[in-house]
Amino acid sequence: MNKRKNIEAQLLELTNIQVIDTLYDRLMQLQGELPMEIKDLEDEIEGLKTRLENMKEREKEIQQQIRLLQGRIENAKRLIDKYEKQKLSVRNNREYLALEKEIEMQQLEIAEAEKEIAKLTEELEGSEEVEGIQAQMEKVQEEIEDKSKLLEARKKELDEILAETGRELEELEALREKYWEAMDERLRRAYLRIRNNFMNRMAVVTIERDACGGCHSQVPPQRQLDIARRQKIIVCENCGRILIDPDLMETARNQIKKLVKVESIFEEESEE
Ligand SMILES: [Zn+2]
Repeated sequence: MNKRKNIEAQLLELTNIQVIDTLYDRLMQLQGELPMEIKDLEDEIEGLKTRLENMKEREKEIQQQIRLLQGRIENAKRLIDKYEKQKLSVRNNREYLALEKEIEMQQLEIAEAEKEIAKLTEELEGSEEVEGIQAQMEKVQEEIEDKSKLLEARKKELDEILAETGRELEELEALREKYWEAMDERLRRAYLRIRNNFMNRMAVVTIERDACGGCHSQVPPQRQLDIARRQKIIVCENCGRILIDPDLMETARNQIKKLVKVESIFEEESEE
């Protein structure tokens, strides 16, 4: 293999990888924000469910406390009844006053418990000033349902996209691996370094209207001839992207087109 053939082969390798990556990026773009939206919704629903669980726990706790307080009230009432009866058979005033004192204490106990119950009931059922836990739980439940519906819709959208593009993505991945393995380490590094430099992820671009297809800066005629000869790997002096002639891009596209059925995207490309 002479040097000329060698460089030309390297240029084609680079172009093939670029064609595959561009197709892959376009297919991935069809998914848009969906994967991120789905992840966010799942996290939000998870958080809401935890909040709901905590509120249910608190609700149980309050109900239990109320039952205990009611028990204390019942008990105090029984005691008061008992003391009232004892008052009828006291022997002296001191005993009478002592019973009166006991009754008063039990009445205080009842008042305190009732106050506590009112506070807990307010926390549970709410009032004009505070929103009760039960109302909050209803809202959170509704929010969970709304977000779950949205999540299902987004998942369905993504599934539909993946049903259309999943096979193509897999084929492209497999093909890319094959081509990538065959490439020189030096070329791979150069390709990745350039590709990662740019938002449009293009490392290999064609000459378009006498200019770099990446940054649109003019390419002098002599340089264009050198590029067309394919004897050197030439990069744009302005942006650093690898420059190739349009025929080489066409060759690479036809090659990939034969290997992976991604007509939908190739068509889109030619419409531009
Ligand atoms: Zn450029």
